[in-house]
Amino acid sequence: MSKICFIVGHGRSKSGGYDPGATSGAAQEFKIAKEIAKYAQQCYNATYQEQADLMNYDGSLYLTDRINKVNASGYDFVAEIHLNAGGGTGTECYYHKGNETGRKYADAICDNIAEALGVPQRANGTDEGGDKVKLNSSGRDYFAIIRETKPTAVLVETVFIDCASDLSKVNSADGQKKCGEAIARAVAAVRGAATKSKTLTSSASTTDSLYRVQAGAFSDKENAVSMLERLKTAGFADAFIKS
Ligand SMILES: [Zn+2]
Repeated sequence: MSKICFIVGHGRSKSGGYDPGATSGAAQEFKIAKEIAKYAQQCYNATYQEQADLMNYDGSLYLTDRINKVNASGYDFVAEIHLNAGGGTGTECYYHKGNETGRKYADAICDNIAEALGVPQRANGTDEGGDKVKLNSSGRDYFAIIRETKPTAVLVETVFIDCASDLSKVNSADGQKKCGEAIARAVAAVRGAATKSKTLTSSASTTDSLYRVQAGAFSDKENAVSMLERLKTAGFADAFIKS
């Protein structure tokens, strides 16, 4: 059972129609965000012993479905992946008001995306990072995926879809992979996730082949036994006779 999940933002709207999220020319937020989330999960699961889930890659879940699924899951951390819009540049990440663990995730994610993609962090005025809180008019968290869920949740605004230079960083599979890997590394660092052992995989892959060395071929069994004795005396403990 995974304790963490990468969630794709958007994909289905409450009105029943398809919700691509923000758009810019041919670029759709949902289509880019789902690839970034996929690469985050792939990188995480390939690199670390702990495994992560991926939610809403096919865009089949309404926001309310995603919230219900998160709350039924037993996760202790979830990150919903988005692209920003509305004029601006760089990366920012929202967390639960007052949740210091959430702030650490948000801060690490912004640091890693900024470094991997070469984009600025959208500073919140209290530090240099893009980690921030956004509240509604009742003073509660603005984003439902943060407000209505039990685990520590963050909403990642990776980059701006309506900023040409930002979009160019994530408008290819290569860029989406870089961004996803940056998020995975950030999450792993905050969790102290242990990496998979490389030794185990390499030794497992060599057990298929055995190389045998022949020391003689005899028609008389006595001569074969004699050769075996000599080999064992010489220290070849694994020597044996095969007929
Ligand atoms: Zn969005």
